[in-house]
Amino acid sequence: MPDARLRLEAVAHLDNCIFCKIAAGAIPSRKVYEDDELFAFHDIAPWAPVHFLMIPKRHIASMADATNEDAAWLGRMMVLAPKLAIEQGCTPYPAGGFRLLLNTGAQGGQEVHHLHVHVMGGPRPWLKG
Ligand code: AMP
Repeated sequence: MPDARLRLEAVAHLDNCIFCKIAAGAIPSRKVYEDDELFAFHDIAPWAPVHFLMIPKRHIASMADATNEDAAWLGRMMVLAPKLAIEQGCTPYPAGGFRLLLNTGAQGGQEVHHLHVHVMGGPRPWLKG
């Protein structure tokens, strides 16, 4: 029974969540990376010369919803971010580097309620951030 409920939730999120649809390929995106659990794609309105988003394929609304069960993929995402940043054109640390941003909730500036890490970099000035 719990499995059926989880499947129903997954379908509901696929219907309602733009980043679930992007991860499933139902909405096109400029893909940066994909594996079984993670998906990365260019932000549609970049603030910086390099600006992509990393998401879990499984729907989780925000960092406020993360539990110990999410620690492994969250850790993997953090370790993957610098590699993808360099691949996408960020200059290596320390002269270059990049910015990781996880907006959480309305006061945290979160607009899309599917957990995502912004990865931004490249020469400044940037549009914002
Ligand atoms: P946040 O304010 O942290 O929720 O950021 C949401 C980000 O998602 C913004 O930077 C948007 O530009 C980006 N975004 C929204 N829709 C799309 C889309 N269809 N493809 C790529 N990026 C998107």
